[in-house]
Amino acid sequence: MEVSKEKKRKPGQYTKETSATEALFGPQDPPAARVVDGSRTEAEQSWEHGLRPQQFEDFPGQDRVKEKLKVFVEAAKSRGEPIDHILLSGPPGLGKTTLASIIANTMAVDIKTTSGPALDKKGELAAILTSLKPNSVLFIDEIHRLNTVVEEYLYSAMEDFYIDIVTGEGLGARTMKFQLAPFTLIGATTRAGLLNAPLRDRFGIVERLAFYDKAALVTIITRSAKLLSTSITPDGAQEIAKRCRGTPRIANRLLKRVRDYAQVKGDGTITQELANYALDQLEVDHLGLDDMDRKILTLICEKFAGGPVGIDTLSAALSEEKDTLEEVYEPFLIQEGLLNKTPRGRVVTELAKAHIRERS
Ligand code: ADP
Repeated sequence: MEVSKEKKRKPGQYTKETSATEALFGPQDPPAARVVDGSRTEAEQSWEHGLRPQQFEDFPGQDRVKEKLKVFVEAAKSRGEPIDHILLSGPPGLGKTTLASIIANTMAVDIKTTSGPALDKKGELAAILTSLKPNSVLFIDEIHRLNTVVEEYLYSAMEDFYIDIVTGEGLGARTMKFQLAPFTLIGATTRAGLLNAPLRDRFGIVERLAFYDKAALVTIITRSAKLLSTSITPDGAQEIAKRCRGTPRIANRLLKRVRDYAQVKGDGTITQELANYALDQLEVDHLGLDDMDRKILTLICEKFAGGPVGIDTLSAALSEEKDTLEEVYEPFLIQEGLLNKTPRGRVVTELAKAHIRERS
């Protein structure tokens, strides 16, 4: 399903209409950025850049995917060829963009970065494709949001490294085949299921990134703290790792916020006690859930008797985009065993009920 750019709201934004959420929770605050939202805010782009690992060795976690990619990169490099096209899927903030740049770095080739919504004309794609150097990487983020015309134009480029270019106009118009330099397309998507089969089939390597385990997150947090010149104790790192929804981007974001508390309320060192206090202040609970997650679970528990409730009803009741619910909120709630997707709709689990009871 294609989501138009106008309609797509950022996670955490709400519509004005009164909703079941308001009926249940009272008047809602104005749109606020979620501290535990895996998607990148504009302000984050620059500081994230400094924390982004540049090589596989600095990229903890995702071992299965990483080991395979290392082999493919090594093999392609020794043959002097580009690697097969790669599709990386998974929730936002798990390292898809980072892996693409590590692959390009390890291959010692250029990388050009764009995104599905940004490429709305064939001409724009043609301009990028014709400028690629041999074996370089083209990274397309949110590739499931390419429009059909641009997507179909990509097929021959991916398969045989050529595109059709039309020269002249009207009756004099002629179509020319333009040979491209061999390249690797790396597509990233939060919704692999939305990709059309002809596009998906043109990727030789398809990998799904999973949420990170605590050990990998502790390594990531400790490394980021070092890069930010912040001191952190091992149990301080553990506490942030427990509450960052298995997502490095959120881990880094929480680390930055907790660092502020450490500076103002402590002696600058992030200890477990300090992290605990700061994360409570930020209303991120011990499962990593924020206000919105708890609202989703409470709504299903209290308004829909625990479910099943359809995603459309839920989206209307919460005044939140269906896509955002499915891409941003649900994957973590499902993975943590708090929510189940059934053919008849979403159902909260006993664990979720207990958690909501405990918090209310
Ligand atoms: P995605 O493209 O999946 O949304 P990114 O690659 O942009 O995610 O990663 C988000 C942030 O998390 C970046 O700042 C990156 O440095 C950090 N990050 C992601 N994965 C890892 C990892 N395995 N190790 C260290 N940092 C990571």
